[in-house]
Amino acid sequence: MMKGSKANVVEAIGNTPIVKLNSLAKDSICDIYVKLEFMNPGGSTKDRIGAYMLDQAVIDGDLKPGGTIIEGTSGNTGVGLAMWAAVHKYKCIFVLADKQSQEKIDNLRAFGAKVVVCPTNVEPDDPRSYYSVSKRLAQTIPNSFYVNQYDNLHNRNTHYTWTAPEMFEQTQGDFDVFMAGVGTGGTITGCGKYFKEKMPNVEIVGIDCEGSIIAHYKKTGEICEAKSYVLEGVGEDFIPENYDFDVIDDFEVVGDKESFLMTRRLLKEEGIYAGGSAGAAICGALKYAAKQTKKKKILILLHDSGNRYASKIYNDDWMSDNGYLDSSFNVQIKDVLN
Ligand code: PMP
Repeated sequence: MMKGSKANVVEAIGNTPIVKLNSLAKDSICDIYVKLEFMNPGGSTKDRIGAYMLDQAVIDGDLKPGGTIIEGTSGNTGVGLAMWAAVHKYKCIFVLADKQSQEKIDNLRAFGAKVVVCPTNVEPDDPRSYYSVSKRLAQTIPNSFYVNQYDNLHNRNTHYTWTAPEMFEQTQGDFDVFMAGVGTGGTITGCGKYFKEKMPNVEIVGIDCEGSIIAHYKKTGEICEAKSYVLEGVGEDFIPENYDFDVIDDFEVVGDKESFLMTRRLLKEEGIYAGGSAGAAICGALKYAAKQTKKKKILILLHDSGNRYASKIYNDDWMSDNGYLDSSFNVQIKDVLN
């Protein structure tokens, strides 16, 4: 081995930096710091769960040589799994909902994975949903392993044993609040549990999106009807097993438009090229900060890279066509004049 090198790309996951937001938080009572998980080799924090869940599957005897890895994924987890599979020589099949960006689908196919696209607006137990299709494929294909990041508790264990200790070591626990966008619940629950054990006064706040059922469930204990939303990666229409609501103190809920506009400001004003759930998390953090009476240090985990959203959030025509920019013509004139 060459000195200073890693044995393979999977070994290069982790040790991502934490940086301060200078412009976006300048009028806020709180200081905001962000962990740049898009600096992982596959472009998201899901590289960690991909590697960890598959290592565990091999240890537990669930994934055997020559096996096929099957997962229903919004794309980021697929990249993490596909990267591990390329290094360790396994086949992959990914099942996606059709609202996911073309970049995500193309990326997975480029890894050599088979990608099945299913309709978004059907109930999770509908046979056409990506949850049902993934399960069916796993039952039918011999020597396959259905990863199931929603209910596989090695998802939250990844963040409990790896991501959170890394952040604790980087910061020496010098923050008051930890926030992250919520989907499977793995990030917020795994990190939240670790931080609460180390820092009894830390607050753990999840960021959910309008239309999702997660924040409402924490508040009322009731499962409400989900509505559609455009944000990718955050929000759910059911409660995955990875949630432990005891470690989540509160939620902030944000909408598509404000999240997308904040994602663009994050790039323009801070130079940070991240995905829509990052903008959502920062909107949530600013809402939380606006309710505080004393200064707090907020640490937010930003899940993924902006390059998966180049044709959507970072495209003026897509933003205008969907009503997120008032007029593409006006915005372009304004941008030129600025
Ligand atoms: N943001 C993005 C872009 C994601 O892909 C995910 C994963 N679904 C999340 C946020 C939420 O993370 P978690 O699933 O760990 O709750």
